[in-house]
Amino acid sequence: MSAASAPLDHTGAPVVYTAGASRLTVRRAFCKGCDLCVDACPAGILVLDAEDRVMVTDIARCTFCGLCAGRCPDFVFVLQEAPGTRMGALPFRLDGRDA
Ligand code: SF4
Ligand code: SF4
Repeated sequence: MSAASAPLDHTGAPVVYTAGASRLTVRRAFCKGCDLCVDACPAGILVLDAEDRVMVTDIARCTFCGLCAGRCPDFVFVLQEAPGTRMGALPFRLDGRDA
């Protein structure tokens, strides 16, 4: 469990992170602190705060790959990427081959 440096949101209310016209909404009230998304995020920008609820440390590094949403069993993440941009800009291939 990682400590986060940003201010805590004790309400568990949704937090909307924006990067240009893209948005990543984190519905913190649903988060049970299982850590699955933290381990899955290839950018390493997800942490659990002192209340064991997930938060994003640096949305500018988010590739909007969707792995967090895919791993979360509690539907915490909602990704809305700007029109004309590419979803799934992973820095690696999922099949393990060279990109
Ligand atoms: S969309 Fe990808 S890069 Fe962005 S927080 Fe989720 S797992 Fe990390
Ligand atoms: S996978 Fe979902 S429930 Fe588990 S820590 Fe991440 S946001 Fe919370």
